[in-house]
Amino acid sequence: MRPRPAAGGRYGGAVTTVPTPAVPAPEPISPVQAAALRDGVLPPVEQVRPGVWTLAVPFRGGVPDATLVYVVEAFDGSLALIDPGWSDDDRLEVLRDGLTHIGRSLDDVALVAVTHLHADHLGAAAAVRRATGARVAMHRLEVEALRHERADAAATDADIATWGLPEELRAGVVAAWGSGRRIGLERTAEPFADLLVEDGDLLPVAGRELRALWTPGHTAGHTCFVDQPDGLLFTGDHVLPRINPGIGLGGRTPANPLGAYLASLDRIEGYGDLEVCPGHEYRFRDVVARARTLARHREERTRHVAEALDALASPTLFEVASRVPFSGGIASMSGFLLASALTQTAFHADLLGRADEIRTA
Ligand SMILES: [Zn+2]
Repeated sequence: MRPRPAAGGRYGGAVTTVPTPAVPAPEPISPVQAAALRDGVLPPVEQVRPGVWTLAVPFRGGVPDATLVYVVEAFDGSLALIDPGWSDDDRLEVLRDGLTHIGRSLDDVALVAVTHLHADHLGAAAAVRRATGARVAMHRLEVEALRHERADAAATDADIATWGLPEELRAGVVAAWGSGRRIGLERTAEPFADLLVEDGDLLPVAGRELRALWTPGHTAGHTCFVDQPDGLLFTGDHVLPRINPGIGLGGRTPANPLGAYLASLDRIEGYGDLEVCPGHEYRFRDVVARARTLARHREERTRHVAEALDALASPTLFEVASRVPFSGGIASMSGFLLASALTQTAFHADLLGRADEIRTA
């Protein structure tokens, strides 16, 4: 059994995922997606099942650099998109081209279901909604987090001040993680969702059985979608084949996102027979093995944080994190990566029940 997360902590967050290349990865199902990843190009549109396709939408910078969008055809001929991908400028060319490739058009889209609030998943939703009148469906907690995003970012500055950061690193962390960070969706005055999704809900896609599976951790309202009849599990960023998803990247939450994430990894093990359709990289099988690899990685990190706490008397968060063997080492980090490493260290300390050993002066 894993330790239960302590309640009452509050954590800041930002958007993206953090690569940990040392973790073993499952074999790809799709040769074209694997080849595209190897060659650093976008994979082509691909049919996954009758009436289900995937296409890739690129985004600017960062890792990974494309989102896998899934297109699901309802029995009435309308289309649902799972994660429409990133659109900074409301341009939808890649989506339009992909739909043209399968003989359909953007006008056919009636529903946009979003796994979580990050710009590489939710980003194009408002533009698709405007262009087509499609409804946007997302978990209630994601909508709440978006509403609080600006206030959260400002409150996070107060946290950053307690981390014991060397002066020369602090401004970069505030810029990437606190009040200086870009609030991706603030510019839109539109509502973020037309349909609030809760765990177990069926998406309104005629003749399809697409059920919401709430998997908090990466963000508080992260939701996978299960298509049991077609044997498909759409995992967003909860479980990816090669990337170790960042934790607590969806705003401040009352509970420890690491505890939530480990519980969500346990939960996904009930779907081990389904083909995994992740938000990035490539489709694969055996979500159970992958979930266990990710959980083991977290357990190892918890042990490293415990060892650091054992070795130090009244350390700052920065001092604890400096003893944790993050890939690349914390000395090489700044800005977002450093902030992510520090908050994850805090989550692990909290999970150990040892958060109060860290000095916050
Ligand atoms: Zn993502």
